[in-house]
Amino acid sequence: MQNPTKSWYNDFMNKITVKAQAAKRLSKGYPLLVLEDLVSQLPEDSFVELVDQKQKTLGTAYLSKQNKGIGWLLSSSKTTINQAFYESKFLEAKNLRLSFFDDQLTTAFRLFNGEGDGIGGVTVDFYADYAVVSWYNAFIFDQRLEILAAFSHVYPEICGIYEKTRFAHADKIESRFVSGQEAPEPLIVLENGVKYASYLSEGLMTGIFLDQKNVRGILADGLSAGKTMLNMFSYTGAFSVASAFGGSVQTTSVDLAKRSIEKTRQQFEVNQIDPDTQKIYVMDTFAYFNYAKKKQLTYDLIVLDPPSFARNGKHTFSVAKNYGELVEQSIDILEKDGILICSTNAANINATKFEQMVTKALVDKAVSFDIFQKEQLPADFHVSEAFPDGNYLKVLFVKIKK
Ligand code: SAH
Repeated sequence: MQNPTKSWYNDFMNKITVKAQAAKRLSKGYPLLVLEDLVSQLPEDSFVELVDQKQKTLGTAYLSKQNKGIGWLLSSSKTTINQAFYESKFLEAKNLRLSFFDDQLTTAFRLFNGEGDGIGGVTVDFYADYAVVSWYNAFIFDQRLEILAAFSHVYPEICGIYEKTRFAHADKIESRFVSGQEAPEPLIVLENGVKYASYLSEGLMTGIFLDQKNVRGILADGLSAGKTMLNMFSYTGAFSVASAFGGSVQTTSVDLAKRSIEKTRQQFEVNQIDPDTQKIYVMDTFAYFNYAKKKQLTYDLIVLDPPSFARNGKHTFSVAKNYGELVEQSIDILEKDGILICSTNAANINATKFEQMVTKALVDKAVSFDIFQKEQLPADFHVSEAFPDGNYLKVLFVKIKK
């Protein structure tokens, strides 16, 4: 539905002056605004026309605080932001992904990747004919009726829509069903031929992180064939299932959350793999390293994919401070000529810094090694050339020669 009041208001957008450096970045298409970019104080959440200090128009943006920045550039001219604008962005994004819809072996992927597809603060994921929309700030959430109407217009074939609110807000509801039909629970999606059980209405997480598609694909495609595999911070065991599917001798999944046992067992079951043939532990990762050393357990392949920050009782873990320890501990329980897969989605660590951290830990452990493959986001998580920081995922495949 179009909201005439909003569009009218939009024609009389506030003009916001930005500093010279910011003007340069914005004119090259860099989409993120930070508080320091503005000459004046931050006005309230709204669409704005951005101008340089000579009052020349730089584009149209909206302001709203989220975990990164205070707003996003939407266009490089003075533009009315309405349902037609959103439709044009969804259509562009759909055209980039036409081949994904033809792939019978992968039925879950990202349809719209926020600023990478021209609208920061909103993403849409496709789960076997259902859509999950995520809102990252209050202002884009306020536009939801126009955005959802635009989405449905571009994707009439979608069976049902869910939404996740990923910013602090008063009602605290994180996940809700929006329209169409409700999805079955679990909803089975396919990725590179492997089945994954997903839940579209259980909080913010769905059971599978779609950004790790390439890594799961490599595991399923044979990297783990004939190997014992340890999956640290395993969540629902998606990497373990991909490895088992790819011919792993045995997988071991370790996660602190109790729910991970039942969820991981289910991921194996939906692929006709008997979960009793695999190991699943509810345990702190660092406690598991000690346990494995005591029991003299070793692995041919270890995946390290922790959250950016985590707290377990008095202990806190952060990628920035503690990733090196994970690598060092892993070396102690890795078989000769083993493989480490080091992954992080921490936004505060870029690819170069991450590689330095991993390399330093390996040098400290005095092992020789070869980083033989690197992965970042898969192609459906489209990243704008002007904003390479949008490619937040960093994965290193390391062969260790002891
Ligand atoms: N690697 C997973 C996603 C990990 S999400 C995948 O690709 O599917 C992060 C997980 O880390 C959560 O399930 C959380 O329960 C777990 N976690 C957080 N702190 C932990 C700790 N100290 N030890 C083990 N697991 C932990």
